[in-house]
Amino acid sequence: MQLPGGRRAGAHLPMGFGLVRAAERAAAIGATTLQIFSDNPTAWRRRTEVPPEAAAFRSRLTDLDIGPVAIHAAYLVNLAGPDDALFEKSVAMVRHELAHASEYGARFVNVHTGSHRGSGLQAGIARIVDGLERATGNLDSTDDPQAPILVLENSAGGGAGIGSTVEELAMILDGADARGLGRQLAVCLDTAHLWGAGYNVAEPATIDDLILDFDRLIGLNRLAMIHLNDSTCERGSRHDRHTHLGDGMIGRAGLAHLLCHPSLSHVAYYLETPGMEDGLDAVNVARLTDLVLGRPLTTALPTATAGSSRTTSRKPRSAGEAA
Ligand SMILES: [Zn+2]
Ligand SMILES: [Zn+2]
Repeated sequence: MQLPGGRRAGAHLPMGFGLVRAAERAAAIGATTLQIFSDNPTAWRRRTEVPPEAAAFRSRLTDLDIGPVAIHAAYLVNLAGPDDALFEKSVAMVRHELAHASEYGARFVNVHTGSHRGSGLQAGIARIVDGLERATGNLDSTDDPQAPILVLENSAGGGAGIGSTVEELAMILDGADARGLGRQLAVCLDTAHLWGAGYNVAEPATIDDLILDFDRLIGLNRLAMIHLNDSTCERGSRHDRHTHLGDGMIGRAGLAHLLCHPSLSHVAYYLETPGMEDGLDAVNVARLTDLVLGRPLTTALPTATAGSSRTTSRKPRSAGEAA
């Protein structure tokens, strides 16, 4: 897949067949990036040892030219909330993911900004900044320029979610920068979350404004990742339900504009669309090429899975849901 400016794009692939198979699947469907979970995304427990397959995985990534690899942290993580026990577990989880990311060949650890759970925006941001400091502090790799980067993902804004606007993301990063954490942090924008938060990313002109705002308040060099997903929810609903590219309310024009934007050739793109384990990974990666070429989405969904039943299913382990 050739993307403008040599930018790279791939998908969050399931780990059901193991790490090496995920790398090989990425290459087989034309992906050049890969996002994974390092462990069960809905559990706190982390395996104590990195899987023995990790070394073979890293060498397959190199052979197949797949990367940057992102690890999506467990959904349970909330660095913004007032509950001390949950906060401590969240710090430990993020720290664990960062400490082990390079063993998976991962450049990025992606984490949701979290929810203040009623404590208010200012308290929530202060809490996130404390959490980021503790999760990143004094890791062995801190001085390594190739050290994994913690990438904060925007929220759709539901459930007291923080970081649903560029302004709020900038407040978090400003707080972290003041503690000297700047080099270890970057941002991921999820298109379905932008849409849920009210950004009209169906419109190229709105995307241009968003990119200008991001550059002014944060700096485009700190936009490391985009989760490229269509959404079945209403714009501004603060809800988040990912669907296949071109099948949702964002649609082709906006997704293509983000995928091809001349200011974003340094950004790595990852699909988090449903049915990755059922062959729809290939369909959505093929649709990336359709979007770049400005042609109709010729790659239809397999008939057995087409339609709303697939896109509205709720499978907690699927990357397409609430990711
Ligand atoms: Zn999402
Ligand atoms: Zn996402």
